[in-house]
Amino acid sequence: MRPTWAEVDLGAFDRNVAAIASSLPSGTRVIAMLKANAYGHGAVALARRCTPNHVAMIGVALLEEALELREAGIVLPILVVGPLSESQIRVALDHNVTLGVPGPEELVLVARVARERDVAIHLKLDSGMGRMGVVDTELARVVELLRASPRLRVEALYTHFANASDPRDPFTMEQLARFDTMIATLRQSGVTAPKHHAANSAATLRGITPGDYVRVGISLYGAEALDSSSAPPAVPVPIMRWRTAIMRLKDLPAGAPIGYGSTFHTARPSRIATLPVGYADGYDRRFSNRGEVLVRGRRAPVVGRVSMDLVTIDVTDVPEATAGDEVVLLGRQGAHEIRAEELASKLDTISYEVFCSIGARVPRLYVDP
Ligand SMILES: *Cc1c(COP(=O)(O)O)cnc(C)c1O
Repeated sequence: MRPTWAEVDLGAFDRNVAAIASSLPSGTRVIAMLKANAYGHGAVALARRCTPNHVAMIGVALLEEALELREAGIVLPILVVGPLSESQIRVALDHNVTLGVPGPEELVLVARVARERDVAIHLKLDSGMGRMGVVDTELARVVELLRASPRLRVEALYTHFANASDPRDPFTMEQLARFDTMIATLRQSGVTAPKHHAANSAATLRGITPGDYVRVGISLYGAEALDSSSAPPAVPVPIMRWRTAIMRLKDLPAGAPIGYGSTFHTARPSRIATLPVGYADGYDRRFSNRGEVLVRGRRAPVVGRVSMDLVTIDVTDVPEATAGDEVVLLGRQGAHEIRAEELASKLDTISYEVFCSIGARVPRLYVDP
């Protein structure tokens, strides 16, 4: 096997889940968001670690993601938050997958299915995201649909925050107020739901956890959910280590060009190591001449362009480096760590995208130390 893989620490995942679950007010439970293959960490493996003592439900975006988990034998309740077609709704119900109905159009389809069978849904309200969810002006139509569908039961009402990662932004509290108003409007029309949920990781970390569930994603994987934290929190901790190894080393004189476009020339006699990883694995091409990796517990710069399958680094200042040495692209090695937030800031993106970009060509290996 190629020495490039991502290690996922299942014990650390368990501890993150437990830490988040035990930080919640009593009665508030975790919906573990494992969409997008658990943000690249591997949904099936992590779903197997989700036990009902800490996790009430698993959340995914696509029906396909829910079915993958059911096929793997996962029995926890699963919520699909993305939109579904009528035939997908039937398949979801056949697999005991809960619909997170994102708007009136889908509610029409669900109501059609509910003529033949009992259906319980989570209904999404748009309190200011402007994306999915029922808006104010659609509430009357929703009430009408629900009244005409005696076998359709709203088990939960939920909403999603736009700016919870910024503690100074008052919009989160405004959204919460709008959510409450929409719930009250529905109640006045006779539509009630036993459960509510709103918080993502950022809101949860801030203690804004209204209702019965929090829907946490990024915190499970140990990345920072808040924009403005100066220091990374002690808990949760990152659970992924993306590593490769030095494939070959060469000594080049000063002035030697490296890689496509010859964008780097050695400034001194240099030792250059080649790594069997590239942008086809999700190691972003924008790390060309900008990235850093860990070798023998020290940082070494990426030199030259990242190619599809290869990366070159300068290990002149790590003289003991040899072929076969482990190289860490993301995660800890010795006393040093490259966090997803660091890679994200170099790419002008967020840790979520860094995780989701690690390609299918990179095997995920699960460790449980
Ligand atoms: C992905 C997702 C979440 C989780 O967000 P994090 O910021 O990763 O905690 C919560 N709710 C919905 C609807 C989502 O799609």
